[in-house]
Amino acid sequence: MKNIKSMLPEEIAADFEKLGEPKYRAKQVYKWLNRGVGSFEEMSDIPKSLREKLEAEYSIYKPKVIKKQVSQIDGTIKYLWELYDGNAVETVVMSYKHGNTVCVSSQVGCRQGCAFCASTIGGLVRCLEPSEILDEVLFSQLDSGKTINNIVLMGIGEPLDNFDNVVKFLKLVNNPDGMNIGMRHISLSTCGLVEKFDELAELDMQLTLSVSLHAPDDETRSKLMPANRGRGVEALMSACRRYYDKTGRRISFEYIMIDGVNDTEYHAKLLSKHAKSVCAHVNLIPMNHVEEREFRPSTAGHMKAFIKILEDNGVNVTVRRKLGGDVDASCGQLRRKIEKGKGCR
Ligand code: SAH
Repeated sequence: MKNIKSMLPEEIAADFEKLGEPKYRAKQVYKWLNRGVGSFEEMSDIPKSLREKLEAEYSIYKPKVIKKQVSQIDGTIKYLWELYDGNAVETVVMSYKHGNTVCVSSQVGCRQGCAFCASTIGGLVRCLEPSEILDEVLFSQLDSGKTINNIVLMGIGEPLDNFDNVVKFLKLVNNPDGMNIGMRHISLSTCGLVEKFDELAELDMQLTLSVSLHAPDDETRSKLMPANRGRGVEALMSACRRYYDKTGRRISFEYIMIDGVNDTEYHAKLLSKHAKSVCAHVNLIPMNHVEEREFRPSTAGHMKAFIKILEDNGVNVTVRRKLGGDVDASCGQLRRKIEKGKGCR
């Protein structure tokens, strides 16, 4: 059966034509799907005969909440969803003064192997379907009652390793008859799969590209991020430059501050040079401790000195606020806990 929630209204309309149904019904059905219905039966303004046809042709799945944690500190909500095949992914809803941001996963697990990250510890299980990524946004909004204004693809997985499904998700969530979230309110974060940058730029979608840089030199970066091996920082910077030139959208560099690993004066100077060469904004991230990892966050003193070097070099730099510290809100940590729990039983 076809997964109707991964289809755009025009694709549904094309199918409906073949089924001998009027095209306008497609829009009606699409709107229902974006209200979070779990069956065709609930689509009360669709004739019964069509509902029966749809029932036979298409599937609708609604993710179940396995676990929901609400931070006592800042209200950050973390969901663990059960997918149709029993796999689980995480979504985080964060509230800021300017609105609510949802952080979605794009894969079950991850195969990029970053040394500081919890999501990659068990490897990649599978890619998420477009509808499953959409459901993270939709059901976070419906369950929390918070209108989602911004989306960051910064949860579990590497979005560019699931390129087609992620692009389809972006089109679904952006559709005026769907959740209608503007591309300028969406950020896609990547570990730097440079071979996909041009393809993304070609789509000219106006989203924000965040590059998880974490180190400005090949030696440090290849140690932290296997995805750097065989690609390299230079190729990454050229790809960023081409992306910026083509789309006119400023890239943001994510940079986790790790004690003694990537937080020295040398790193700050080289990072400044790269940021300036591609007009990137730098977002420093205080590292979250991951139980299985030996790294420690940079000290406040080192962080201050690092920021000063960037600022003195005219780089636009911000420090990410830490939210949801009491709900394992750093990618992959909640799913990891549950997986580990399974192993012990
Ligand atoms: N694969 C994509 C998106 C998922 S990671 C990427 O690499 O960008 C989302 C962000 O969280 C990345 O910047 C990632 O490097 C960061 N991150 C991973 N582990 C972290 C940790 N322990 N502490 C803080 N940030 C972490």
